[in-house]
Amino acid sequence: MNTSSNTRSPPSKPITPQHALVTGGGSGIGAAIAVVLMQAGMRVTITGRRLDVLKAHAARYPSQMQAVQMDVADAESVEQAFAQARATFGPVHILVNNAGQAASAPFLKTDESLWQQMLSVNLSGTFHCTQAALPDMLATQWGRVINVASTAGLAGYAYVAAYVAAKHGVIGLTRALALEVAKKGITVNAVCPGYTETDILRESIANVVAKTGRTEVQARAEFASGNPQGRIVQPEEVAGTVLWLASQSAASVTGQSIAVCGGEIMR
Ligand code: NAP
Repeated sequence: MNTSSNTRSPPSKPITPQHALVTGGGSGIGAAIAVVLMQAGMRVTITGRRLDVLKAHAARYPSQMQAVQMDVADAESVEQAFAQARATFGPVHILVNNAGQAASAPFLKTDESLWQQMLSVNLSGTFHCTQAALPDMLATQWGRVINVASTAGLAGYAYVAAYVAAKHGVIGLTRALALEVAKKGITVNAVCPGYTETDILRESIANVVAKTGRTEVQARAEFASGNPQGRIVQPEEVAGTVLWLASQSAASVTGQSIAVCGGEIMR
Protein backbone atom coordinates (compact mmCIF):
# COMPACT_ATOMS: atom_id res chain seq x y z
CA MET A 1 0.00 0.00 0.00
CA ASN A 2 1.30 3.42 -0.89
CA THR A 3 1.32 5.46 2.33
CA SER A 4 1.13 9.13 1.48
CA SER A 5 4.08 10.97 3.00
CA ASN A 6 2.00 14.01 3.92
CA THR A 7 0.00 11.97 6.43
CA ARG A 8 3.18 10.76 8.14
CA SER A 9 5.79 13.49 8.21
CA PRO A 10 5.84 17.02 9.57
CA PRO A 11 5.84 19.81 6.98
CA SER A 12 9.21 20.72 5.53
CA LYS A 13 11.21 23.64 6.89
CA PRO A 14 11.01 27.05 5.20
CA ILE A 15 13.97 28.61 3.47
CA THR A 16 16.41 30.02 6.02
CA PRO A 17 17.14 32.44 7.54
CA GLN A 18 13.60 32.87 8.76
CA HIS A 19 12.06 36.27 9.36
CA ALA A 20 10.47 36.64 12.81
CA LEU A 21 8.42 39.71 13.75
CA VAL A 22 8.03 40.41 17.47
CA THR A 23 5.50 43.06 18.51
CA GLY A 24 6.44 45.00 21.63
CA GLY A 25 9.99 43.76 20.97
CA GLY A 26 11.79 46.79 22.38
CA SER A 27 11.31 46.00 26.05
CA GLY A 28 10.61 43.31 28.64
CA ILE A 29 9.50 39.88 27.44
CA GLY A 30 9.46 40.94 23.76
CA ALA A 31 13.07 42.16 23.90
CA ALA A 32 14.16 38.82 25.40
CA ILE A 33 12.21 36.90 22.73
CA ALA A 34 13.82 38.96 19.95
CA VAL A 35 17.30 38.14 21.28
CA VAL A 36 16.79 34.35 21.50
CA LEU A 37 15.27 34.21 18.01
CA MET A 38 18.14 36.29 16.66
CA GLN A 39 20.68 34.01 18.42
CA ALA A 40 18.95 31.04 16.76
CA GLY A 41 19.87 32.56 13.38
CA MET A 42 16.69 34.39 12.46
CA ARG A 43 16.30 37.89 11.10
CA VAL A 44 14.13 39.70 13.58
CA THR A 45 11.89 42.75 13.20
CA ILE A 46 10.90 44.36 16.48
CA THR A 47 7.94 46.71 16.57
CA GLY A 48 6.31 49.12 19.01
CA ARG A 49 5.20 52.74 19.27
CA ARG A 50 8.48 54.13 20.71
CA LEU A 51 10.94 54.08 17.82
CA ASP A 52 13.83 55.33 19.98
CA VAL A 53 13.47 52.35 22.37
CA LEU A 54 13.27 49.90 19.45
CA LYS A 55 16.27 51.42 17.69
CA ALA A 56 18.38 51.26 20.85
CA HIS A 57 17.65 47.52 21.19
CA ALA A 58 18.12 46.70 17.49
CA ALA A 59 21.36 48.70 17.25
CA ARG A 60 23.09 46.04 19.37
CA TYR A 61 22.53 43.46 16.63
CA PRO A 62 23.16 45.26 13.32
CA SER A 63 21.99 43.45 10.16
CA GLN A 64 20.12 40.79 12.15
CA MET A 65 17.54 42.96 13.90
CA GLN A 66 15.55 45.93 12.61
CA ALA A 67 13.25 48.38 14.38
CA VAL A 68 9.90 49.33 12.83
CA GLN A 69 7.32 51.63 14.37
CA MET A 70 3.82 50.13 14.75
CA ASP A 71 0.73 50.69 16.84
CA VAL A 72 -0.94 47.27 17.01
CA ALA A 73 -4.29 48.88 17.83
CA ASP A 74 -4.30 50.68 14.46
CA ALA A 75 -4.88 48.37 11.45
CA GLU A 76 -3.38 50.89 9.00
CA SER A 77 -0.23 51.27 11.08
CA VAL A 78 0.10 47.47 11.21
CA GLU A 79 -0.25 47.18 7.43
CA GLN A 80 2.40 49.86 6.81
CA ALA A 81 4.80 48.35 9.35
CA PHE A 82 4.54 44.87 7.82
CA ALA A 83 5.30 46.33 4.37
CA GLN A 84 8.38 48.06 5.81
CA ALA A 85 9.50 44.91 7.64
CA ARG A 86 9.17 42.74 4.51
CA ALA A 87 11.05 45.27 2.37
CA THR A 88 14.26 44.44 4.27
CA PHE A 89 13.86 40.90 5.60
CA GLY A 90 11.28 39.34 3.22
CA PRO A 91 8.12 37.38 4.06
CA VAL A 92 7.28 36.89 7.72
CA HIS A 93 7.51 33.23 8.81
CA ILE A 94 7.17 33.68 12.58
CA LEU A 95 4.89 36.17 14.30
CA VAL A 96 5.12 36.75 18.03
CA ASN A 97 2.12 38.78 19.20
CA ASN A 98 3.65 40.10 22.40
CA ALA A 99 2.59 43.78 22.57
CA GLY A 100 0.28 44.33 25.49
CA GLN A 101 -0.89 46.62 28.23
CA ALA A 102 -2.30 45.74 31.66
CA ALA A 103 -4.41 48.42 33.33
CA SER A 104 -6.22 47.64 36.57
CA ALA A 105 -9.48 49.01 38.01
CA PRO A 106 -12.38 47.65 40.03
CA PHE A 107 -15.12 46.52 37.63
CA LEU A 108 -17.48 49.46 38.28
CA LYS A 109 -14.60 51.88 37.74
CA THR A 110 -13.69 50.20 34.45
CA ASP A 111 -14.97 52.85 32.07
CA GLU A 112 -15.61 52.42 28.35
CA SER A 113 -12.23 53.87 27.43
CA LEU A 114 -10.20 51.51 29.65
CA TRP A 115 -12.29 48.56 28.42
CA GLN A 116 -11.73 49.50 24.75
CA GLN A 117 -8.03 50.16 25.31
CA MET A 118 -7.45 46.70 26.81
CA LEU A 119 -9.37 45.00 24.01
CA SER A 120 -7.74 47.11 21.26
CA VAL A 121 -4.15 46.53 22.29
CA ASN A 122 -4.24 42.99 23.65
CA LEU A 123 -6.90 41.34 21.48
CA SER A 124 -7.47 43.44 18.32
CA GLY A 125 -3.69 43.99 18.12
CA THR A 126 -3.21 40.23 17.92
CA PHE A 127 -5.97 40.03 15.30
CA HIS A 128 -4.50 42.83 13.13
CA CYS A 129 -0.95 41.45 13.15
CA THR A 130 -2.05 37.86 12.51
CA GLN A 131 -4.14 38.98 9.54
CA ALA A 132 -1.11 40.82 8.18
CA ALA A 133 1.31 37.91 8.64
CA LEU A 134 -0.81 34.89 7.70
CA PRO A 135 -0.73 35.33 3.88
CA ASP A 136 3.11 35.05 3.96
CA MET A 137 2.87 31.83 5.98
CA LEU A 138 0.20 30.36 3.70
CA ALA A 139 2.35 31.16 0.66
CA THR A 140 5.33 29.36 2.27
CA GLN A 141 3.12 26.58 3.71
CA TRP A 142 5.08 27.03 6.94
CA GLY A 143 4.59 29.40 9.81
CA ARG A 144 4.40 30.00 13.52
CA VAL A 145 2.00 32.34 15.31
CA ILE A 146 2.90 32.64 18.98
CA ASN A 147 0.67 34.78 21.16
CA VAL A 148 1.99 36.06 24.46
CA ALA A 149 -1.22 35.89 26.50
CA SER A 150 -1.02 35.56 30.29
CA THR A 151 -2.18 33.36 33.15
CA ALA A 152 -4.97 35.99 32.99
CA GLY A 153 -5.99 34.25 29.74
CA LEU A 154 -6.58 31.04 31.65
CA ALA A 155 -7.94 32.18 35.02
CA GLY A 156 -9.74 35.15 36.53
CA TYR A 157 -8.07 37.81 38.70
CA ALA A 158 -9.82 40.59 40.60
CA TYR A 159 -9.54 44.25 39.50
CA VAL A 160 -8.34 43.47 35.96
CA ALA A 161 -11.59 42.39 34.27
CA ALA A 162 -10.86 44.13 30.96
CA TYR A 163 -7.32 42.69 30.74
CA VAL A 164 -8.56 39.21 31.73
CA ALA A 165 -11.35 39.38 29.14
CA ALA A 166 -8.92 40.46 26.43
CA LYS A 167 -6.38 37.73 27.24
CA HIS A 168 -9.12 35.06 27.37
CA GLY A 169 -10.04 36.34 23.89
CA VAL A 170 -6.45 35.79 22.75
CA ILE A 171 -6.67 32.15 23.89
CA GLY A 172 -9.94 31.72 21.97
CA LEU A 173 -8.41 33.21 18.83
CA THR A 174 -5.38 30.93 19.24
CA ARG A 175 -7.54 27.80 19.41
CA ALA A 176 -9.83 28.72 16.50
CA LEU A 177 -7.04 29.74 14.12
CA ALA A 178 -4.94 26.69 15.05
CA LEU A 179 -7.70 24.46 13.67
CA GLU A 180 -8.23 26.62 10.58
CA VAL A 181 -4.58 26.36 9.46
CA ALA A 182 -3.70 22.95 10.90
CA LYS A 183 -3.11 21.36 7.49
CA LYS A 184 -1.11 24.30 6.13
CA GLY A 185 2.17 23.75 7.99
CA ILE A 186 1.31 26.58 10.39
CA THR A 187 1.00 26.26 14.17
CA VAL A 188 -0.74 28.75 16.44
CA ASN A 189 -0.03 28.69 20.17
CA ALA A 190 -0.13 30.89 23.23
CA VAL A 191 2.40 31.35 26.00
CA CYS A 192 0.90 32.36 29.33
CA PRO A 193 3.38 33.97 31.72
CA GLY A 194 2.70 34.55 35.38
CA TYR A 195 4.09 37.73 36.96
CA THR A 196 7.30 38.46 35.05
CA GLU A 197 10.11 40.91 35.83
CA THR A 198 9.30 43.75 33.36
CA ASP A 199 7.98 47.32 33.30
CA ILE A 200 4.37 46.02 33.48
CA LEU A 201 5.16 44.35 36.81
CA ARG A 202 7.18 47.33 38.09
CA GLU A 203 4.18 49.60 37.31
CA SER A 204 1.81 47.19 39.10
CA ILE A 205 4.08 47.16 42.16
CA ALA A 206 4.25 50.99 42.15
CA ASN A 207 0.45 51.05 41.91
CA VAL A 208 0.06 48.79 44.95
CA VAL A 209 2.58 50.89 46.92
CA ALA A 210 0.71 54.11 46.02
CA LYS A 211 -2.75 52.72 46.78
CA THR A 212 -2.07 50.63 49.91
CA GLY A 213 0.93 52.23 51.58
CA ARG A 214 2.79 48.90 51.54
CA THR A 215 6.53 49.00 50.90
CA GLU A 216 7.94 47.95 47.54
CA VAL A 217 9.43 44.83 49.15
CA GLN A 218 6.05 43.86 50.61
CA ALA A 219 4.23 44.47 47.34
CA ARG A 220 6.81 42.46 45.38
CA ALA A 221 6.56 39.57 47.86
CA GLU A 222 2.79 39.58 47.42
CA PHE A 223 3.12 39.25 43.63
CA ALA A 224 5.67 36.43 44.06
CA SER A 225 3.50 34.58 46.59
CA GLY A 226 0.93 33.60 43.92
CA ASN A 227 3.67 31.59 42.20
CA PRO A 228 4.20 28.18 43.91
CA GLN A 229 7.93 28.59 43.27
CA GLY A 230 7.72 31.79 45.33
CA ARG A 231 9.41 34.00 42.76
CA ILE A 232 8.86 36.28 39.80
CA VAL A 233 9.31 34.71 36.34
CA GLN A 234 12.24 36.08 34.28
CA PRO A 235 11.67 37.29 30.66
CA GLU A 236 14.28 34.80 29.39
CA GLU A 237 12.17 31.92 30.70
CA VAL A 238 9.20 33.05 28.60
CA ALA A 239 11.52 33.59 25.62
CA GLY A 240 12.83 30.02 25.88
CA THR A 241 9.29 28.65 25.54
CA VAL A 242 8.66 30.87 22.52
CA LEU A 243 11.90 29.66 20.90
CA TRP A 244 10.80 26.04 21.32
CA LEU A 245 7.35 26.73 19.85
CA ALA A 246 9.05 28.40 16.88
CA SER A 247 11.24 25.36 16.26
CA GLN A 248 10.64 22.45 13.91
CA SER A 249 10.51 20.05 16.86
CA ALA A 250 7.26 21.72 18.01
CA ALA A 251 5.55 21.05 14.65
CA SER A 252 2.83 18.91 16.28
CA VAL A 253 2.09 21.41 19.04
CA THR A 254 -0.79 23.68 18.04
CA GLY A 255 -3.76 25.34 19.71
CA GLN A 256 -2.01 25.09 23.07
CA SER A 257 -1.71 27.61 25.89
CA ILE A 258 1.52 26.97 27.74
CA ALA A 259 1.66 28.43 31.23
CA VAL A 260 5.07 29.73 32.33
CA CYS A 261 4.26 30.52 35.92
CA GLY A 262 5.96 28.15 38.36
CA GLY A 263 2.88 25.91 38.57
CA GLU A 264 0.36 28.64 39.44
CA ILE A 265 -1.97 27.24 36.75
CA MET A 266 -2.30 23.51 36.14
CA ARG A 267 -4.73 22.17 33.58
P1 NAP B 1 6.46 45.81 28.68
O1 NAP B 1 7.92 45.80 28.88
O2 NAP B 1 5.66 46.99 29.10
O3 NAP B 1 6.19 45.48 27.17
C1 NAP B 1 5.00 45.77 26.50
C2 NAP B 1 5.39 46.10 25.07
O4 NAP B 1 4.19 46.28 24.32
C3 NAP B 1 6.20 47.40 25.00
O5 NAP B 1 7.38 47.14 24.26
C4 NAP B 1 5.28 48.37 24.27
O6 NAP B 1 6.04 49.19 23.39
C5 NAP B 1 4.36 47.44 23.51
N1 NAP B 1 3.06 48.04 23.28
C6 NAP B 1 2.15 48.44 24.20
N2 NAP B 1 1.09 49.00 23.60
C7 NAP B 1 1.34 48.94 22.25
C8 NAP B 1 0.63 49.36 21.09
N3 NAP B 1 -0.56 49.96 21.16
N4 NAP B 1 1.19 49.11 19.89
C9 NAP B 1 2.38 48.53 19.80
N5 NAP B 1 3.10 48.12 20.83
C10 NAP B 1 2.58 48.32 22.06
O7 NAP B 1 5.76 44.56 29.42
P2 NAP B 1 5.93 42.99 29.27
O8 NAP B 1 5.65 42.43 30.59
O9 NAP B 1 7.19 42.63 28.57
O10 NAP B 1 4.67 42.63 28.36
C11 NAP B 1 4.76 41.82 27.21
C12 NAP B 1 3.53 40.92 27.12
O11 NAP B 1 3.53 40.00 28.21
C13 NAP B 1 2.20 41.67 27.21
O12 NAP B 1 1.30 41.16 26.26
C14 NAP B 1 1.71 41.34 28.61
O13 NAP B 1 0.31 41.37 28.73
C15 NAP B 1 2.27 39.93 28.79
N6 NAP B 1 2.39 39.51 30.18
C16 NAP B 1 3.20 40.16 31.06
C17 NAP B 1 3.29 39.73 32.38
C18 NAP B 1 4.17 40.40 33.39
O14 NAP B 1 4.01 40.13 34.61
N7 NAP B 1 5.11 41.22 33.01
C19 NAP B 1 2.55 38.61 32.78
C20 NAP B 1 1.73 37.98 31.87
C21 NAP B 1 1.65 38.44 30.56
P3 NAP B 1 5.64 50.74 23.12
O15 NAP B 1 5.27 51.32 24.44
O16 NAP B 1 6.87 51.32 22.53
O17 NAP B 1 4.51 50.70 22.15
